[in-house]
Amino acid sequence: MNLARRFKNSKGNFSLNGPLAEVILSAMADAALVVDRDHKIAAFNAGFLKIFRKSSSDILGQTFEEAFRHPILTNMLCLALAQGRKQCREIHLFVPGDFAFEASMLPLIRQAKVEGALLILLDITRLRQLEEMRRDFVANVSHELRTPLASIKALTETLLDGALEERGPRGEFVQAIKEDADRLGHLVDDLLDLEAIESGKRSPRWEYVDLIQAARQAADKMRNLAAKRQVTIRVEAENNGICARADKEQLDQVLINLLDNAVKYNLDGGRVTIRIHEQDGWGRVEIQDTGVGISTEDAPRIFERFYRVDKARSRELGGTGLGLSIVKHLIEAHGGQVGVMSELGRGSMFHFTVPLKK
Ligand code: ADP
Repeated sequence: MNLARRFKNSKGNFSLNGPLAEVILSAMADAALVVDRDHKIAAFNAGFLKIFRKSSSDILGQTFEEAFRHPILTNMLCLALAQGRKQCREIHLFVPGDFAFEASMLPLIRQAKVEGALLILLDITRLRQLEEMRRDFVANVSHELRTPLASIKALTETLLDGALEERGPRGEFVQAIKEDADRLGHLVDDLLDLEAIESGKRSPRWEYVDLIQAARQAADKMRNLAAKRQVTIRVEAENNGICARADKEQLDQVLINLLDNAVKYNLDGGRVTIRIHEQDGWGRVEIQDTGVGISTEDAPRIFERFYRVDKARSRELGGTGLGLSIVKHLIEAHGGQVGVMSELGRGSMFHFTVPLKK
């Protein structure tokens, strides 16, 4: 619809700040503001005030540049009034925090004369954040794939250059190629897992699970690996059984991921203790280790995809940097919470909650 026609009052006169203009602006989901051809602010909606953290009395009767002091928007306003053409730009406002908006300045034209302009700000902050996350993700995945692939390439080239004839090195090289291929396999498995969880394809299949028994089973599965580093795993629980409502397979995956880390990032001869108890109607599991610990700067970030404190060490231990991210998604899909308390050099305590049987 012609915007100028929308702003005519009941008598057919053009009004930039009449009741009709106000009704239209307040019904708009996006932030909107109208100025006349002298740049005087004529009407606006609450969304606009909110973005700039202003009140009506701050801006009433002022010119656009007096009220907002935004050179890009002022320039767009001048162009829209002078050329009678719509101006579009992406702008960033730091109010505080970085917010991205698609700004559209539309000239309000009546009988071939520009009477004013309508500015609409569409909040595209989330969209830009998601795009950035996707770009980072692609860059991270490519980087993670490239490392074992480069190693496989170098090893096969060495074999083809003659090492294939030598019995000793041949075996070692083939073993190293297998390990790199395994690493690639784990990475692809974790990526597919994460994608399935995030897109909701793996929503929990609810059943009743004894948390203590699940923890004991997970501990049993990890004992061989732990024994290689003389790490002991103990399960401590106050009750005989704590019945949770959870997806057993996903709960096992969470326990194994956390236990695997508690062993991997432990010291030789260290301890892992699993404690299970009820708290405020939730089942709470704590996995404590006596390992390397995590600094206060790193701790809030370790649940992010591919975030690793010590990349080289994680890779050497067969890590993909996705385990904790998978844990977080799985627990959140159960409605629970996951967290960590840690002290550098003294060990970490990861904890999570799952709903109890009602
Ligand atoms: P990874 O495959 O690298 O183990 P995770 O997502 O499981 O990936 O963990 C992310 C990072 O968090 C690890 O690289 C490590 O730096 C840190 N981390 C995880 N668990 C522990 C732990 N129990 N003790 C110390 N650091 C840990």
